[in-house]
Amino acid sequence: MTTTLPTDGPMRAAIDAAKQRVAALHAELPRWNLVAWTAGNVSERVPGVDGSDDVLVIKPSGVSYDELDAAAMVVCDLDGRLLEGDHSPSSDTAAHAYVYRHMPEVNGVVHTHSTYATAWAARGEEIPCVLTMMGDEFGGPIPVGPFAIIGDDSIGRGIVETLTGHRSTAVLMQNHGPFTIGKSAKAAVKTAVLLEEVAKTVHVSRQLGEPLPIDQKHIDSLYDRYQNVYGQKG
Ligand SMILES: [Zn+2]
Repeated sequence: MTTTLPTDGPMRAAIDAAKQRVAALHAELPRWNLVAWTAGNVSERVPGVDGSDDVLVIKPSGVSYDELDAAAMVVCDLDGRLLEGDHSPSSDTAAHAYVYRHMPEVNGVVHTHSTYATAWAARGEEIPCVLTMMGDEFGGPIPVGPFAIIGDDSIGRGIVETLTGHRSTAVLMQNHGPFTIGKSAKAAVKTAVLLEEVAKTVHVSRQLGEPLPIDQKHIDSLYDRYQNVYGQKG
């Protein structure tokens, strides 16, 4: 079955708005030094309107960051098939699509090879929760996902299996790099930025000695406060 996207109406408006957001969020990846050349990608789920299927908006493959405006974004179904766009979708689209199919609460996915997070991934070592900001944001250590080769569902499956039932919204795919998830693409980009920050800080701390662990009860209360109390009430 081929899905045809509407040319007007609420679903078209939602897709076009998502293209604007996802294009603008891609500019954050080089801005925060998370990517080299054309590596890295951001996607967002567009929930189906009036019973139509959800779709996702993602970066095209191999296009330079300077050219990533809203018109360059591509739309795929949740099996990763191209529905709209002048370029082929990012080579990581299958992994993003797998996450959206299996984690209905996730509306944004980001992938980078940011240096420090990827250095932990290369060692296959989780980042221990030794900073209060890690307790706040991730609720514990940043877990490592399995080694997986691009080309089938194995990256997506590794992300979902590692993060399901885990507080962390970031996973370090072994020998590869981080994937982050969020309630929106913006939230997943924020997590990618903060992940790189904590990966760097814990690495630097390690050079000086062994970082001090934080008691689980303190991690729990940091996480609870930050997730439920902190911030502006809408
Ligand atoms: Zn990658």
